[in-house]
Amino acid sequence: MPPVKTSIFQLLKIGPGPSSSHTIGPMKAGYYFMKLVRNLPNEDRLRADKLTIRLFGSLSATGEGHGTRRAIMSGLLGFLPDTCHPNVLEEFDNKDQEFELDLDGKALAYCPRDMIFDAVQHDYPHSNTMIFSLKAGDKTLLERTYYSIGGGFLHWEGRKEPKRGEPMYPYKTMAQLKEHLRNNSMRLHELILANEKAITGMSEEEIYAGLDHIVEVMERAVEMGIQSKGALPGPIGLQRKAAVMYEQAKAEHFQGPGFVKAFNAYAMAASEENASGHCVVTAPTCGAAGVIPSIIFMLKRHMGALQKELHEGLLAAIAIGFLCKHNASISGAEVGCQGEVGVASAMAAALLAYARGYRFQVTENAAEIAMEHHLGLTCDPVGGYVQIPCIERNAMGAIKAYNAYLIATTLDESYQRVDLDKAIEAMAQTGRDMSRKYKETSLAGLAQSVTEC
Ligand code: SF4
Repeated sequence: MPPVKTSIFQLLKIGPGPSSSHTIGPMKAGYYFMKLVRNLPNEDRLRADKLTIRLFGSLSATGEGHGTRRAIMSGLLGFLPDTCHPNVLEEFDNKDQEFELDLDGKALAYCPRDMIFDAVQHDYPHSNTMIFSLKAGDKTLLERTYYSIGGGFLHWEGRKEPKRGEPMYPYKTMAQLKEHLRNNSMRLHELILANEKAITGMSEEEIYAGLDHIVEVMERAVEMGIQSKGALPGPIGLQRKAAVMYEQAKAEHFQGPGFVKAFNAYAMAASEENASGHCVVTAPTCGAAGVIPSIIFMLKRHMGALQKELHEGLLAAIAIGFLCKHNASISGAEVGCQGEVGVASAMAAALLAYARGYRFQVTENAAEIAMEHHLGLTCDPVGGYVQIPCIERNAMGAIKAYNAYLIATTLDESYQRVDLDKAIEAMAQTGRDMSRKYKETSLAGLAQSVTEC
């Protein structure tokens, strides 16, 4: 396996919720397919009379509840996740509305209702598969199969990796990463920064500006969430809870139970914004978009963290996210929720430890403890909506991150018997063994036992 070459801004992406693999990936697919269409020869483009879009796997099973139809439609019409306005998906709530697609010299009518929610079980190499076909009568002019592989990443057959620089300090595992740190007397955030510069060609200032923007979007999601009340979109009628918990935490001056309530409120706030289809940061996915913002909000508002400490903590968290993505998965459709909220919690625990000044061993231990206690966690969203269990699960992920930080920083390092590489390996194996029913299909677990939704 090659070394980690993912960029920070591929892992932490800004875009509309509620599920990065169901909204950000499909939105990009819609956008890229239309770009291909506009590059067709004139004679093909001008005789095109039909667009067919088929969705498979968990996109078919839970795409309706996750906003896939609206996300693809917005992509077809030229919106991209990182530049669209925060509430863009609301423009496509009416699936019976007909839109005109710009084929460059020709308009093609398309109605979101025509998207085909095809087989849940299939033989394509990734669960979240989409096939776009442009036709003239029976003749297919252009067809492309896209895979939304989690965290908003999009692959397709024949895709070539964009050219990137080589990492200055190549690593595949935490053990290799630590070896670099020891051999070069560096700190973890310095290594991640050096690799990012080498891979992307970005300057340090550009990277820090990007991190500041990510923190801003996370904070905005929390701030919006703790001020919003009422029911979330969808048939469940689930009431938002973050604002109520925040009011209680405030009344208790964020002390004692109020301190813990604030963690819950902040995580649920960003998660509820995600469930509303508003813009969040994939950290590492939309479904888990509340955990890290909760820790950042706590660090900034209640623990007096400086911006520099946040930057460094975030870079340490990113290292954990890279390792999990590289050696296991961050997709609920591949490994269940252990890859989403589990990874977010491990990243958040590392963020907290590192931002509070602990070095890499304690940081790794905090991440490992948080990961270990999410192993086996399934993905079974009720009704296919990223609401139950997802929103409270984000709160639990934030609390577990805090507890993992407490365990890792209270006990001597020599108590630790499991390293992070082993926990990630266990997560990957558990994901492989997990029945497909528990991987974002809503065919089992809570999704089946809560029948009234
Ligand atoms: S259960 Fe977890 S993995 Fe599944 S949609 Fe909810 S947050 Fe994502």
